[in-house]
Amino acid sequence: MFFKKRKKDVSSNPFYKEKKSMKIYIECGRCGHVMEFRILNDRDLMVSYDGVSTYVIDKLYVCPKCYNQISVKAGFKESLKPTYVEINGGKFITKEEYEGKEGER
Ligand SMILES: [Zn+2]
Repeated sequence: MFFKKRKKDVSSNPFYKEKKSMKIYIECGRCGHVMEFRILNDRDLMVSYDGVSTYVIDKLYVCPKCYNQISVKAGFKESLKPTYVEINGGKFITKEEYEGKEGER
């Protein structure tokens, strides 16, 4: 078997880890505009006391094209493995989908 790269399942884990941040790629649920956002680990991760997640994020993004609001909430274990992910107003896409759509413009 020669799998080049397993496709990332962005519905359960849309976060692309970098050194001190994570990137997410979102498609606007209203106009289809694709966006890239960076989550800064030391600024955006809040400590959680729910007993399941070590950190949580609660972000509200605005689509620059149609001003649709997209909310992203998620919890993480200490290893930054997501415990839950919620998105409203848009959907997560892969980095490859983002780069493909960006190139079309
Ligand atoms: Zn939009």
